[in-house]
Amino acid sequence: MDIGKMAFYQKYRSKQFSELIGQDHISLTLVEAIKSDRLAHAYLLTGPRGTGKTSTARLLAKAINCQEICDQRKKGEELSGEICDKCDSCKEIAESRSVDVIEIDAASHTGVDDIRELIDKARFSPVKSPKKIYIIDEVHMLSKSAFNALLKTLEEPPSHVVFILATTEVNKLPATILSRTQRYDFKRVSKQDIIKNLKRIIDSEKIKITDGALELIAISAEGGHRDAVGLLEQVASFSKDIKEDDVRNILGISRLKDRILFIGAIFNNNPEEGLKIAHRLYADGSDILQFSKDIAEILRKVLLLKISDNIVLDDITEESAQEMKKLGEKVTIDFIVDFINEMIKSFPLIKDASLPLLPLEMVVIKCSNIELKTSNTEGQKSESLLAGSQVKNQGLGDKKPIKNEDSSIKEKSKPADKVEVVEGTKLLEKSDTVSAPVLEMTLDLWQKVIEETKNANTSLAALLRDTKPIEIGEDKIVLGVKFAFHKDRISDHKNCSALESIITGITGKKLKISCKLVERKKQIKVEGSGEDLEKAAEEIFA
Ligand SMILES: [Zn+2]
Repeated sequence: MDIGKMAFYQKYRSKQFSELIGQDHISLTLVEAIKSDRLAHAYLLTGPRGTGKTSTARLLAKAINCQEICDQRKKGEELSGEICDKCDSCKEIAESRSVDVIEIDAASHTGVDDIRELIDKARFSPVKSPKKIYIIDEVHMLSKSAFNALLKTLEEPPSHVVFILATTEVNKLPATILSRTQRYDFKRVSKQDIIKNLKRIIDSEKIKITDGALELIAISAEGGHRDAVGLLEQVASFSKDIKEDDVRNILGISRLKDRILFIGAIFNNNPEEGLKIAHRLYADGSDILQFSKDIAEILRKVLLLKISDNIVLDDITEESAQEMKKLGEKVTIDFIVDFINEMIKSFPLIKDASLPLLPLEMVVIKCSNIELKTSNTEGQKSESLLAGSQVKNQGLGDKKPIKNEDSSIKEKSKPADKVEVVEGTKLLEKSDTVSAPVLEMTLDLWQKVIEETKNANTSLAALLRDTKPIEIGEDKIVLGVKFAFHKDRISDHKNCSALESIITGITGKKLKISCKLVERKKQIKVEGSGEDLEKAAEEIFA
C-alpha cells in the first residue's frame, strides 16, 4: 500500500506499546509481561471506541509472534519488551496477512457459520508462528453459536492459542468469559494527550493549524483518539492552513449547534421545532441514541453552569460555555433536572425500539409541556407529565412538599412549606396556608381568561397556557411564567394591555399585570390564609 495515501490513523498507528496514547496503565503492564514471558492465553480489552483497543491487540499479537523477541528469549538475552517491527511476522501482522493471526470483527462479519468454524479451528497448530492468535473485535456481538464455540475453546484452550477479545460493551459479556480472560480497561483519552498526538501528525504532514482549531478537534472527538485523528484528516483534506472557523465549518460544530437548537426549542416550549430537528437528523442517518446521549450531556453542562459560575468544564470552548449559560437562563433548575431524567429514561427505549425516533418524540412532547389544551381539570391533572411524576412520588409517601396546585388540591389544608413573599406586592390577607378552593377557582377563572384571549389573539393565548396567576392584589395581578421568553412576550405593552382589558371584562376589576419567572413546580405561591384568601378571591373575581 502507498503509505502516502494511507489514512492518518493507519499511517500513525502506534508501532510500540510506548506509543499508545493515554493508556500507560495498560502498556506498562503488557511490556512487563512480555519481558518476563508471562503471557496469558486470553485477553479482554474493553473501553470506549477509538481508545486504542485494536492497536493494542495488534501490538500484542506482534509481540507474541515477533521472531526477534523469540530469538532473544531463546538465547536468554534481556528483553526490552518492545517489538522489532521488522521481522516477517511483524510485517505480516502490520499488513493483516499473517496466516496465524485471525482477525474477526464480530460487528460487521456476516458469515455467522464462518466465525464458528474459524474458532473451531483453534485446535489446529499455527502454520509458521509460535502461536495462533485470534483477535475478535466487538466480541459481544458474536452469534450464539460462535459464542458457544469460543466459550468451549476458552474452557480448555490449546497451548498454542491466544485470544485477544475487544469490546465496547463489556457488560454484555457473560461471567464465563470474564473469568477466563485477563482484563484491561481502556480509558477515554484526555484532551491534552489527544492534542499531543495530533501535533505529531501535524508536524509530519506539514499542516498549519491554530491552537484553537486543534483544541476544537480534540474536544469533538470526546476522548476517542481515533476519531480525533480522523477529524484532523478530514479538515486537512480541505486546507493545509487550518483555523478554528474551518474546523467549525467543516466538521460542523454544526453537530453541537443542532443539539443546542434542539434544547432551545424545548426550553422555548416549541415542540414543533424540536421534532423537526430530530426528524431531519434521523433522515440524515444520524444515530438517534447518540444524539439523545449528547442532549443529556449538554443539559448536564447547562445545569452545572446554571448552578455555579465557578464550574470549569474543560471539554467545551469558552464560547460554547457562554452559549450554554445563556440557554440555562431560560428555564429553572427543576426543569433541567426533569428534562435530563426524561432523556435518560429514553435511552433503553431508543435502543430497543424498532422506531428509534418515537421515544425521543415522546420526550419532546412531554418536556415541551403542551397540555392545558383541553378542559381545566384535565389540564391540571396532566400539569406536565414531569410534574405529574412528582405528585405520584408524594402519593407514595415522599415527604417532600410540592408547591403546585395539584398537591394543594389533594391535601387541602396542608401548609405550604415555604411561602415566598414577592417584594413590593401588597397582599390582601396574610396566612401560612395555601387553600385549594381558592386556587381552583382562580384557575377556573384563569381558564376563562385564556378562552377569551383565544378569540382575540391566539398566539397570546398560547403563551398563557403555561402561565398562571400567582398573586392577586387590590389592583394588580402577578402572573407566574415558566420561561423568560414568555415573560418578555406577555410583558410586551400591546399584549399586556389586551390581556388587562380581557381580565377586566371577566372580573370587573382593573388589575395591572406583571410577570414573574417561577420554578415550574412552584407556580402557586401565595401568602394568606386559605379562608381569607378565598374571600379575597371572591371579592376580586366576584
Ligand atoms: Zn518482529
